[in-house]
Amino acid sequence: MSEQASFDADLMQQWEMTVDRLAVHAERWHGRREIVGRLADGQIARTNWAALAQRARQVTAVLVAHGIPMGTRIGTLAMNSIRHVETWYGVMGHGAVCHTLNPRLFDDQLIYMINHAEDRWIFADPAFRSQVERLLPHCPTVEKVIYLGEPGEAGVLPATATDYETLIADADPAMARWGHFSERTPAALCYTSGTTGNPKGVQYSHRSQMLHTLISGQRDFLGLSARDTLLSVVPMFHVNAWGLPYIAAAAGSKLVLPGARLDGASVYELLETEGVTFTAAVPTVWQLLFDFLSENKLKLTTLKRVAIGGSACTDALVRGFRDGHGVEVLHAWGMTEMSPIGTISGPLPPSLGDPDESTRMAYNLKQGRVPFGVDLKITSEEGVRQPHDGITPGHIKVSGPAILERYFRDDKSAVDAEGFFDTGDIGTVDPHGYLQITDRSKDLIKSGGEWISSVEIENIASGHPKALMAAVIAMPHPKWRERPMLVVKLRPGQTATAAEFHDFLKGKIANWWMPDEVTFVDEMPLGATGKLDKKVLRARFTTTHP
Ligand code: ADP
Repeated sequence: MSEQASFDADLMQQWEMTVDRLAVHAERWHGRREIVGRLADGQIARTNWAALAQRARQVTAVLVAHGIPMGTRIGTLAMNSIRHVETWYGVMGHGAVCHTLNPRLFDDQLIYMINHAEDRWIFADPAFRSQVERLLPHCPTVEKVIYLGEPGEAGVLPATATDYETLIADADPAMARWGHFSERTPAALCYTSGTTGNPKGVQYSHRSQMLHTLISGQRDFLGLSARDTLLSVVPMFHVNAWGLPYIAAAAGSKLVLPGARLDGASVYELLETEGVTFTAAVPTVWQLLFDFLSENKLKLTTLKRVAIGGSACTDALVRGFRDGHGVEVLHAWGMTEMSPIGTISGPLPPSLGDPDESTRMAYNLKQGRVPFGVDLKITSEEGVRQPHDGITPGHIKVSGPAILERYFRDDKSAVDAEGFFDTGDIGTVDPHGYLQITDRSKDLIKSGGEWISSVEIENIASGHPKALMAAVIAMPHPKWRERPMLVVKLRPGQTATAAEFHDFLKGKIANWWMPDEVTFVDEMPLGATGKLDKKVLRARFTTTHP
């Protein structure tokens, strides 16, 4: 090699960033750190990172023994459990792709996803057996179903199915050879819920998952430590539980997995008995917890921080956690296509001084700043970058090593000439770099040529003491094209009039943002990840209001 060539060469080690290294790290350096999971019968199971890694190797050994090639998609239809985490590390360590399926989806959506991914095996919770059996006749690529339980837990099984414990009982962990492949190898697959058209697959590589772990683990973002106990309420089928099982392994945190019980009483019990310091979920879960806490006059005594994302966090949630329990709220924004972390509302930088309460709250309700590893721009409809003045809204576009370039089985690139992916969200960025989501582009209300932020009106309306949930949707209007309509679900036992809500909003929003109508509903339609489904509301009210 010439002298020049040796200077130019990369002289550092070829350390492929494959996710099995996370399990090996946790096994070697945090081996005795506990992992706790709630079983289907409510009992608590305990293991640790060392034992989990060994059992994950047994899963890999089974895949090796069955001749499953690298790159094969292996589905999971399961809640967060110890066996589910073992399966995911075992599948990925082998170089196969872990495709987490959301059991709350409709059969047709699951059938589409399984067929599109061509899943060959599915690991499922015994509780989902009847659902699996409804799907299977329509999913010709699936050869085997493994029920994540003890022998017999899923009942008497056909020849094409087995119990997890039976499957791995005799598997020799030494037969697993983890890693030893390129970091560009696919590791995991998640589908977007498909609020428009068919669901789209987002295939993460080992490299993108490892970088997402490092990016979101930074101190101002999820910032977990070996001293943390982490409760992953957010399910693994919701964008890989926002990466928490990876981040916990990297940090050596204690990991708590809630199984199927996500009601207020069960979540409270785990938070307190396991000494949880950090947790994460969509807002609806926390609403259930708060209802339980206030009914029973209970306090959270160990929790320090909670990440809330997936839809906008309300003023009431921030106050409930902060003032009621001394818990810091990290409001996060992201999406399946971003692995998912995009921004987090970490504490204000010192340059902002010591803000007063209303400024602090305003910042806490914004979606936050980007970590290193995510770049973001807001543009006009023509693609022109908009100023970071906190006022001018634009289409939010993102780039980074853990952000999608193209969808699974799609030839078309999904990024613009500068390499940015259009998130479909609309928002502003202020001079301090804080992003505020004002809408999803498909939920936008355009009245007289100007955008009205449905999210902002919802946040304020849901702070009305009688309101449990609020949604703002666009209704067609002959003069203004669209006008906002406020839909409210009241707290149990409450009655209210439209005028009460109009009065409550007065002075808090611009006059021309005032919803023309206020309607009360008994139930809000929620999608499969617990988010409000405005599509259903729009369909319902556009037909009743021609
Ligand atoms: P989908 O809900 O379409 O399946 P995701 O679960 O990936 O997809 O959700 C991504 C979307 O959720 C974002 O594009 C955004 O509209 C919304 N979202 C996520 N976090 C927040 C937040 N903190 N505030 C407001 N909207 C959010």
